[in-house]
Amino acid sequence: MNTSSRINIVLVEPSHPGNIGAVARAAKTMSIGNLVLVNPELFPDRQATVRAVDAVDVLERAVVCTSLKDALGQCTFVVGTSARTRGLPCPQIALRELGSRVWQELEKGHVAIVFGRESSGLSNEEMDLCQYATTIPSVSSLNLAAAVQVICYEIFMAALEQEPDLAGTDCEDALADSAELERLFEHLQAVLLEIEFLDPKQPKLLMRRLRHLYHRARLTQVEVNILRGILSATQRTVSQ
Ligand code: SAH
Repeated sequence: MNTSSRINIVLVEPSHPGNIGAVARAAKTMSIGNLVLVNPELFPDRQATVRAVDAVDVLERAVVCTSLKDALGQCTFVVGTSARTRGLPCPQIALRELGSRVWQELEKGHVAIVFGRESSGLSNEEMDLCQYATTIPSVSSLNLAAAVQVICYEIFMAALEQEPDLAGTDCEDALADSAELERLFEHLQAVLLEIEFLDPKQPKLLMRRLRHLYHRARLTQVEVNILRGILSATQRTVSQ
């Protein structure tokens, strides 16, 4: 998900370093790794590092700014988050629409999602710098990192709906490319002929169906190697 490198999570004056770490962790679990901090009270700090767990890299890359205006410099789509509706609210975007809208906007530029202070949220002037506001339906305001988690989840879910294979984020192995898959299919066809499973006079749609099966699986290079190893072992056994 390369485009997610153009999503910034912006925290305005966070007062607890632990929250900054928890935010980094929450964002990273949803494949979002850009953190921008506007005047954090205490940063870097050990508590932030501890709470980040395996998102320490996000903290290390975090950009610190002295004003929200500077933090939003290159962003073309800015959404402020607020637990409450205001006197003259900026246009609202429903949480459920936010994810797909973010992905549309990423085709044109950079996106920022802005979060407020633990104590008092975002000021009206800060909300004025946002094009839209969104609210997570809740009976009272969420903890900062919990709010970041919910928003990032919505953005991640919208990406998954477009590209379901992103869910396999645990798997870091490179996907097999088309040439590797073609060699696998040739190898498979040769073995199926050798073991007389594939009848060359009546091949029907067998190879096409198998292609569809393997394509759906989005095989990695490692998996292709395993399958080809099985095919080679089958050939050795058959020829004995
Ligand atoms: N007491 C503050 C709440 C701050 S919570 C207030 O009333 O505004 C810290 C930040 O978490 C908020 O500024 C907002 O960015 C985010 N947040 C918390 N609850 C939220 C909700 N229900 N919807 C959207 N954002 C929320």
